[in-house]
Amino acid sequence: MTVRPDKHRDVTNWSDTETICDHEQAIRIVDEEVLRSAICASRGRIRPLGKRYSSVRLLDLTQSSDIAALMDEYAGMVRYDANSVTYKSGTSLHVIYDELKAMGRMLPHAPGVIAVQSLGGAVATGTHGQGLLQCAISDSILAIKLMLADGSVMTLDASDDEFDGVRLNIGCLGVVLEMTLLTVPYAEHICSKVSTSDEVLFDQFIQINHQHEYAKCWWFPDEQQAMIWYSDAVQDWRPESLDALAAGVFSQTIDNSLTLMGQDIRPDHADCKPYQTVTRFRDEHTVQGSIPDIWCKGIPVPQINFEIAVDLDQFADAIEALKRIHRDSPQRTHYPVILRCTGPSSAWLSPTLNRPVCYFGFVVYYATDGGISKAGMDYVKQVELALSALGGRPHWGKYFDVTRYRWQQLYPELGRFVALKHKLDPLNRFGNAFSDHVLAPA
Ligand SMILES: Cc1cc2nc3c(=O)[nH]c(=O)nc-3n(C[C@H](O)[C@H](O)[C@H](O)COP(=O)(O)OP(=O)(O)OC[C@H]3O[C@@H](n4cnc5c(N)ncnc54)[C@H](O)[C@@H]3O)c2cc1C
Repeated sequence: MTVRPDKHRDVTNWSDTETICDHEQAIRIVDEEVLRSAICASRGRIRPLGKRYSSVRLLDLTQSSDIAALMDEYAGMVRYDANSVTYKSGTSLHVIYDELKAMGRMLPHAPGVIAVQSLGGAVATGTHGQGLLQCAISDSILAIKLMLADGSVMTLDASDDEFDGVRLNIGCLGVVLEMTLLTVPYAEHICSKVSTSDEVLFDQFIQINHQHEYAKCWWFPDEQQAMIWYSDAVQDWRPESLDALAAGVFSQTIDNSLTLMGQDIRPDHADCKPYQTVTRFRDEHTVQGSIPDIWCKGIPVPQINFEIAVDLDQFADAIEALKRIHRDSPQRTHYPVILRCTGPSSAWLSPTLNRPVCYFGFVVYYATDGGISKAGMDYVKQVELALSALGGRPHWGKYFDVTRYRWQQLYPELGRFVALKHKLDPLNRFGNAFSDHVLAPA
C-alpha cells in the first residue's frame, strides 16, 4: 500500500503517487529573472521540473537546501520562421503540436503515446515515439538556450561540438530555457490497425517498420497474438496484406487482459480508464488525421512503466527471451508488451546512439487503493534481467533497476558527457543522486 503524499505540503509526481519535495523548496519560474535570482540565492542543488511524468529518481532533491525550479509556467512560443520554431521549455508538447498544425507545419518525429509532457522534460529523457525513419524529439532540436549555475545564459546549436551532449541531458547540465525545433510541412496520415498472430509480428514487424513511416505493436504473449498499427502520409499509404485473426478471436484476448487487470487493480467501475487502455484495441478501423491525433492515444493512468531499447539486430533474441519467461510462468501481466522501433540518434546519452533499436515496453497499473501487483513487479524484474543481458538500455524517464547497468560500457560517449558536465556545471549544482550514480567513474 502506497502512502499518499500530503498534497498541500508536497510537490508530487504527476499521478500523486510519490513525493518529490516540500512546497517550500519549489519555485515557480515565470521568467528568466526569477530563475536567475533563485539559482543565485540558493546554496544547494537545483532540479528543473517539467510535468513530473518521469520516475521520481530523475526529479529527486537530496538536501533541504536543494531547490526545485517548476518550469510549467515558463511556456509559450517565442518565435518561428519558415523551417523552425522556438518554444520555452515548459510548453506542453500538445500545445506545440496544435499550434504548428494551425500554421500548416509539424515536427519531423513521431510523438509518444501522451503529449502532456513539457518540451524540456521530453527532450531531457529522450522521449520517443515509433518508426525507424526517425528517432526522438531531442533529434529535432536545432538550438538550445540554457541557464547555468552562475546565472549566465548560453545558446548551443549544431555547429557546436558539444551539441549532441546537450540535446539529451537528464536535467543535469543547467536549466533549459528555450529550444528551437525543426519543422516540416503538415501532412495527414492514414493508420491501419490489425489484430494478428504473433508469428506475423515476429516475421514482419521489422519489415513493416522499414516500409511505413510509423509502426507500433502490442504483443499478447500468452495468447500468441498481436495488434499492429502502421501509418503513412495519405499520398504514400498502402495497406499491408497481413493475415488478420478471425472475427471474435482477439476479443477473447482482450477479455483475458481485462480479467487479469481487474484482479490486480480492483476498479470501482467497469468503464475505468485502465480498462479503456485495453478495450480500445477492439476498434480496428482505419483512421485518418494528424500524427498526434493518431498516435497520442495514451490514457495516462497511475502506473509503473519500464522500457528498454534493444539493438534491432537482437530483436529475435529479445523475443525468444520474453517467450521463455511467459512459457515458464504465464499470465502475470495485465497489459501487453509494447514494441516500438526507432532509428539512430546522435545524442550521446541516447539509448539508440548511432543504431536502430526496438524499445520493449511494460506497464503495471496501480490498484485503486494505491497498491501494486507483486506478480506484475516480479515480471518486470525478470524481463529487465533478460533484456539487460542482451545489452538493453533503459528509457531514462521510466522505472528500472539503476544498479543493473554498466553505464560506461553501454554509453561510449559517457566520458564526453561527464567532461561537458564538468565544464558547464563545475560545482555539480544540477546533479542529483541519480545523475551522480550514472556519471560516476566506472
Ligand atoms: C503515462 C506515461 C506515458 C509515457 N509515454 C511515453 C512515450 O510514449 N514515449 C516516451 O519516450 N516516454 C514516455 N513517457 C515518459 C515521459 O515522456 C518522460 O518521463 C518525460 O521526461 C516526461 O516529461 P515531463 O515534462 O514530465 O518531465 P519531468 O518528468 O518533469 O522531467 C524529466 C527530466 O527532465 C528534466 N527537465 C525538465 N524540464 C527541464 C528544463 N527546462 N531544463 C532542464 N531539464 C529539465 C528534469 O530535471 C528531469 O531530469 C511516459 C510517461 C508516462 C508516465
